[in-house]
Amino acid sequence: MFKLRFDENRCLDCESCDCLTKCQYMEMDAETARCEMQKIIAGQDSPVLRNCATCYACEEYCSRGNHPFYLIVRQQEALGLPPLPEPIIRRGVQMAIPFRGEPLIQPIRGTALNMGVFSTLSHLARGRLFEGLTLISTDPRKMFHYFCQLMYLHYGRISVINERLGKTIQTIAAHKADQVIHFHDECYGTYTSYAPAFGIDVPFRSVHLFEYLYDRLTQLKDDIKPLNYKVAYQRPCSSRLSPDKHAFVNKIFGLVGVEHVQRRYMDQNALCCGGTITAQKRDGSRRRCLEIQHKNIEDMQQAGAQLCIFNCPACMQTLGKKVAENGIMPLFMSDLCRLAIGEKTALT
Ligand code: SF4
Ligand code: SF4
Repeated sequence: MFKLRFDENRCLDCESCDCLTKCQYMEMDAETARCEMQKIIAGQDSPVLRNCATCYACEEYCSRGNHPFYLIVRQQEALGLPPLPEPIIRRGVQMAIPFRGEPLIQPIRGTALNMGVFSTLSHLARGRLFEGLTLISTDPRKMFHYFCQLMYLHYGRISVINERLGKTIQTIAAHKADQVIHFHDECYGTYTSYAPAFGIDVPFRSVHLFEYLYDRLTQLKDDIKPLNYKVAYQRPCSSRLSPDKHAFVNKIFGLVGVEHVQRRYMDQNALCCGGTITAQKRDGSRRRCLEIQHKNIEDMQQAGAQLCIFNCPACMQTLGKKVAENGIMPLFMSDLCRLAIGEKTALT
């Protein structure tokens, strides 16, 4: 079946071992990191496999083009060391099996916007920013046909992803769109990072939502009124799979006239929303999650952020209410862009 393209030789003379020394959830010097990485490559047990928060960040930290996080997940599964409790894994794997027949496939001329499993958020994709796009996966009863499966990285289940992903790719490709914009960052990461890393063919062109929003705002530039807010950005785990697209965050903020506040936990040093950490139910998981969320929100407050801009709906669900309780308004990036061109947000 599909095999991870991981070049062990690149690790042999890697002096920094950034993949593990930069990890925000484990303390490790370069020598220890090298030793643990060699153990993982050799198929042996390692504390990394047992303590990984599945934040995806080591995929970005490795500047040598290797895939340390995919390797960690593969070895978690091979050694039976799943990051989540088995009952949660069984339920999660069952939950996303497509049901109620095949979706109706309408051929698309032009560009598609793939809602993935967020069919119920289709209202976020209205207004002038999204004019001319055809939405796919708008029926919640059929959304799992469009599920990118990458969530199972948090479950330590590479086998589930590799078993199901081909069918999802076929479903999206059947629409024959010229290009596919992915509403969910995780879908973009699946088709542009995960699939190539495992040699899985993707016959459609993928576009990151933020790149699309930036291009569309540029077309509507004359209608933009600077918003003049101070904003923080909650970077989602999957964004580590497409770090080259992270630049569009600041490019969009520049266009809509908001100040991206400088803070400790931003860009490469971003903290995860904590949703997966609490679900891990290891000793102290709940406390660890609350500590991370506290550090993150306190950092936004100290930097003077008035808004917290979200990319991922799951991060919004986990952290949105908490930032609001601390006086910072949560907002999706698409809604920020809508405000800038004089439209109302999707929820108003
Ligand atoms: S995965 Fe990348 S950063 Fe980690 S040891 Fe290998 S080459 Fe170095
Ligand atoms: S996924 Fe995150 S927590 Fe796990 S080893 Fe990589 S950087 Fe550390």
